[in-house]
This record gives sequence, structure tokens and C-alpha cells, in this order.
Amino acid sequence: MYLRQESGLAAGAGGAAAIGFGQALPLHARAPSRRSGRGGWRDRLGTFDPVVDLGARIGSATWWRGMATCALLCGGAIATAPGIIPLPGRSPAVLPEAQWQEARSLGITPLALGGDTGRRMAATEVVEPLVDTPERPSIDLTATFGQGDGFARVLERAGVSAQEAQAVTAQVADAVPLAQIRAGTRIALTLGRRPSRAQARPLDSLAFRARIDLRVEARRVNGVLALRRIPIAVDDTPLRITGRIGSSLYASARAAGAPVDAVVAYIRALSARMSIGGLGSGDRFDLIVAQRRAATGEVETGDLLYAGLAQGSRETRLLKWTVGGQSQFFEASGVGERRGGMTQPVSGRLTSGFGMRRHPLLGFSRFHRGLDFGAAYGAPIVAAAAGVVRYAGWHGGHGQYVMIQHGGGMATAYGHMSRIVARAGAPVAQGQLIGYVGSTGLSTGPHLHYEVWRNGVAVNPASVRFTTTAQLAGANLAAFRATLARLLAVRPGAATRTAASGDTARPVAG
Ligand SMILES: [Zn+2]
Repeated sequence: MYLRQESGLAAGAGGAAAIGFGQALPLHARAPSRRSGRGGWRDRLGTFDPVVDLGARIGSATWWRGMATCALLCGGAIATAPGIIPLPGRSPAVLPEAQWQEARSLGITPLALGGDTGRRMAATEVVEPLVDTPERPSIDLTATFGQGDGFARVLERAGVSAQEAQAVTAQVADAVPLAQIRAGTRIALTLGRRPSRAQARPLDSLAFRARIDLRVEARRVNGVLALRRIPIAVDDTPLRITGRIGSSLYASARAAGAPVDAVVAYIRALSARMSIGGLGSGDRFDLIVAQRRAATGEVETGDLLYAGLAQGSRETRLLKWTVGGQSQFFEASGVGERRGGMTQPVSGRLTSGFGMRRHPLLGFSRFHRGLDFGAAYGAPIVAAAAGVVRYAGWHGGHGQYVMIQHGGGMATAYGHMSRIVARAGAPVAQGQLIGYVGSTGLSTGPHLHYEVWRNGVAVNPASVRFTTTAQLAGANLAAFRATLARLLAVRPGAATRTAASGDTARPVAG
């Protein structure tokens, strides 16, 4: 039943039909009523309303009638309802204890034994282990020599007894220095028949490529392992690759067959002398790379030996040469590589240039004898070029200050450091840490004040490029020229063909 709100909105709105949602429209709202009292009109009119408000006039005859109607309707509904029939669902059958234990062990044990799928059947008590099984007479396997591995350890991993592994390793070490065996070398092993399962199998044969020019084989004959060194002929003729630069030096050189390392070394060698971006597509590159070609077909490429570039009539020829234990590229004339400019001493942005400026603290104009680089407090400062520390300490308005003397009357200085790392009198390499950015001395904030001095005069650091050259002379120069001539006599290999086909594919520009 529902509540009819007789004293609610309908009455409050002066009889207007202001009825809330879900409420029945009272009869008196349909016809103008002479309603005098609370709910009294219904009885006086004698209208029969089967829907009685059970919230009002509780205990009256009408109320009891409404109550009876309600009970009748509810009872009827309940009595005629079809009832709740449960839907059949899936439920596991209850297993007897023995079956349950068996199913459980079959379900879990394979996983416990390392089965991936759980489908592998675990051995039950029904399974009887065999007392003895026939063994394979020999096992062939391949072991790989790992990075930082030991030869004896490789053998032991393969199943050779520790004692025999040591003995074989000593034998192999006689044939080839173990340090020469590269990581990744694959060793073919044959393990022979053993007298009982309690013992490790003996090593019957062993074979591996110790070096590109050497193969080592060992075979057990009458119980003794006989080792054999088999030298392999190797052709040392270097690989020469030439071609046109086209749209990309790197891509063209790679397409012509140059190894990645060689191309990178080539670009590095050239970039020390010229702008790589300025190379034309018609310019020709010429690389000579160390190469060892074994008679069995293996090829080992090494370092870049020669870097040549032909730009029309202008030719650049660079040969790698070692002087005083340091390798660098020398020009064909015997002049050493020019080292590029100085390293920027700190990673930061230029906040003040070289020249006249109004000093931020002193307030008057004064010549700024260096560059200021704004950088974070504590940022590392490195030596712009190699040299010897001439001064390290407090230096007036420069605060914590380091001066480095380079060759050729050049010096660089670094001011306002928070901490100095360099020691006076000590040599420093280019890029070596000498201190940290700070704001000591006359400074408004953390920055590096950087000066370059030439013969006692401060110069604009932006204008300076350090160049160091070395000139070969005497017997060294003669040997250098002989090597260059020998290398240039190498005819470009099969790679030239690739480069030539690339030539035709590329349109000729400018
Ligand atoms: Zn400054």
C-alpha cells in the first residue's frame, strides 16, 4: 500500500494539484471538495475506496478493512507464487580419501619436480628403479670458452674430472698461450667410456681453433692424449676500400664493405683536419684496414691503417703511425695530426664575453679579461688542454684560482672555484678535473671565469685554437714512407665493385 499525503502539498498549495511524484491524485483534487476535517470526507460521502491509507486512523473500521484487503492480496500472491526452484550447478564429486590423495600428488608433484606444464607424470611407488642401465660408449659435445673463463673450468663443466682437466690444460698451454684463446671459442670434446658410474668419463678427443692461424687437436691413443698443433695459412694483406662519398660518407663506406669500427676511425681521423660536413658527394674515400684472411675462409678485420680522401685535385693521405708508444695519424709528408682546439672547461652557458664591460660588483667599466660561464655550484671544471699547473690557490678577486701552463707560451686560468682539485706543479691532461664551480672572490653567483694567456697577454679564449704537430724525421720517416708506399700498393679488393655499383646508382651532383 502507499501513503497518501493528505496534509501535505495538496492542502498547502490551496487545493491546487501540486502532487509529488508517485503519489495518487486525491479524489478531492479532481472534484472540489467540502473537506472540513482530516480525512472525514470519505466516510461522509460514503464513497467506497478499496485503497485505504493504513497510516491514518489506525484501528478504525476502514483501517481494518484496508488491512484485510492488504493481507488478502499478500496471501494470494504468496500462495500462487511458483516457488523458488534452485538451478543445477557444477559441483565436484566428493572423492574418497585415497583417491583424493592420489589426485593431489599427481597434480602437484610434476611441478615440484620441475615440470613446466604439470603434465609430466611423477614416479609413484609402482615405479621400480633399474639397478643398471647401459651407457652410451661416448659423448660428443661442444663447450664454449667464456669471457674470463679458464680452460680447465670449461673442461670440468663438460664433465671431465678435475685432475684430468688440469693435466689437459697444462698440455694445451704448452701448445698455445691460454691468454690467446678468445672468449666464445668453441671446443669440440669427446668423452669416452668409463669403468663405472662413480667416475667421470675420460677425455678422448679435443679440437678447437686457438687462433685464426692455429688449430689445436688432441686424440687419445693407447691411453695417452696426443696433442697436435695445426698451423693455418693466413694472408695478412690489408683490405682496401674505395668509393664515392655520395649522400653519406658513413653509409657509402659501409655499403662498400668497410667495418663499422674502421668507418668511425676514418671519420675521426679526418674530422681532426677538416669539417666532415663540408665533404662533397663526388669526393672519394680510401680506407685501408688491417685484415687477416685464413686459408680456411675466416676473416678477421683489425684497425684502420690508412685514411685517404680525394677532393678533386686536393688529396688528403693519413697513415697511422706509432711514435713513443702513441698511435696517431700522420700526413703523407710525415707531419702529425693536428689536435683540435681546447675543451670547454665547464658545461655551462656563456654569461659574459671578453672585452670592456661594467663590472657587476665594482660598478664601473673595466676590461673583462676572460669568458664567464654560468654553471651550477659544484659543477666540475676540467683543464682546457694538457699542461702543468702553475698556480693553484687564492688569487684576489679571482677567489680560488688555477692557472695551467701549456706549451708554446700559452696558459689558461680558471677563477671563482668552490674547491680546487689540481696541485701546483702537477701535470694535467686535457679534460682532467681541476676543481669545482663556485662563487669565491668578487663574484655575484656560481660561475667560472676562464682566461687564456698568450705570452703573458690575456687573449679572447674564443679566438684561440691549440695546435700541436709532430714531424717525423730520420729513420722513422723512412720507415713511415716505406709503410705508406707498401699500403698504397694494395689494390682495392672486391669491395671496389660494390662501391662502383653504388656510383652508378647515385646521381652526380655539382
Ligand atoms: Zn669573469
